Amino acid sequence: MPTLTAGFAQVDITPPIGVGMSGYGSRTKPADGINDPLIAQALVLSSGEQAAAIVCMDNIGLNWDMVCAARERAEVASGIPEGNIVIAGSHTHWGPMTSGGKYMPEYLRATISEEYNETLVAALARIVAEANSSRVEVVAGIGSGFSDLVTFNRRVGAPDLSTLWIAAMPPERAIIASREGNRLAREWRRGEHRGPRLSAPIAELDGNRVGPADGEVGLLRLETLDGMPLAGLVNFACHAVCGGDEETFYSWSADWPGQARAAFSSLLGGPMMFAAGCSGDQVPRWRQGNSRERVGKSVGAEAAHVWWGIDENSGDLPLGVTRRSIELPPNTRVPSLAQAQANLAAKPDPEGSDAQWERACVMLAEEIEAGLAAEVWAMRLGDLGIIGLPGEPLTEIGLQIKQRSPFAHTMVVSLANGAMAYFPTDDAIHAGGYEAEWSPVGLGTERMLVETGLDLLRDLYGRGEG
Ligand SMILES: [Zn+2]
Repeated sequence: MPTLTAGFAQVDITPPIGVGMSGYGSRTKPADGINDPLIAQALVLSSGEQAAAIVCMDNIGLNWDMVCAARERAEVASGIPEGNIVIAGSHTHWGPMTSGGKYMPEYLRATISEEYNETLVAALARIVAEANSSRVEVVAGIGSGFSDLVTFNRRVGAPDLSTLWIAAMPPERAIIASREGNRLAREWRRGEHRGPRLSAPIAELDGNRVGPADGEVGLLRLETLDGMPLAGLVNFACHAVCGGDEETFYSWSADWPGQARAAFSSLLGGPMMFAAGCSGDQVPRWRQGNSRERVGKSVGAEAAHVWWGIDENSGDLPLGVTRRSIELPPNTRVPSLAQAQANLAAKPDPEGSDAQWERACVMLAEEIEAGLAAEVWAMRLGDLGIIGLPGEPLTEIGLQIKQRSPFAHTMVVSLANGAMAYFPTDDAIHAGGYEAEWSPVGLGTERMLVETGLDLLRDLYGRGEG
């Protein structure tokens, strides 16, 4: 059997002060401080003829052009084929705007720094090469646990089954939404849930129903032959939107994933990589004060708990990578580009704050016109299947892939090799609301992503057995 080798490298990618931030349309100026550093990390795995690189970084997600540039340069620097590289954003809302943002006024879009973008692409390629050249023989362990009182689903079903969008709840309500959402997700994964993907009416929440919350903490553990931690790859679905305090609204921060990494490292003495799960509708229970620590330490400590709980190790796991390009169906509620432009031109102040929706429609119409190509990426290492999706899927998309995956353990990584938009379910599109409206993709997206992801996983599963 070929031996498994792995290498890890990381680099600080904190942008300069003055670069524009991405995450909140309400921001009116670029970054003016640093709360905590942003980093990018690379893990390279190799077995026999196969090699794969997983890159995780602190930003909202990178567009396809930057992903292609980074992958191509990483291939040149490391020899790893660009298609075997996945580059994923943590979705921190305190990171740089590197592209897009066309719904924002022009003076803010002008704070996108091409110089920073160029530095970032070079840094991503460099850490892939560094991780590759530092590879040593490793043993891998795969497992998962639950941090199931951390998130809730912000899409809430009213008694009449219409959808309410509740991004923050008072603590006594948030914990109920969290507990019930996790219960629903687990029942659904076990195949026990029937009917709409919503809980029963909850009296304490005024008869509202909650959507699923996936509290699974997935872990890939990599240790050197003498038992030292090389790196832990952690998958968890929660929007990185904890730091709601005014005084740090314009300061760079990794948000809760930075705190998770710190907690994990202090417990294990090795680095943690954070790969965001399907968190399009998953939000943290806490948004103020020490919320970054509460969420981060809960997840980081659970990942460490899983690390110690895994009994089986293997050095001889089949490694495989595959991918497929698909064209996602458009959101048919977005007006034609000509119509969207006319709507924007009709606004008294097209650059003003009350033309944000009209600017967004132009952006969405342009994206639809350009074609909604998306790459679905997949990797296997032994019993673990990993899917990468280039946007922000609602958690139900990840749950379906996990439920039907042929692998004992499955991670679904969002904002991987692209950051197209929200990926809503068909139910969410029918019900409406933020994630469905602010997206260029439409009905049928859910099915395409789930079926393509499962197809790739089955393909990798079969190859490993043969
Ligand atoms: Zn988001």
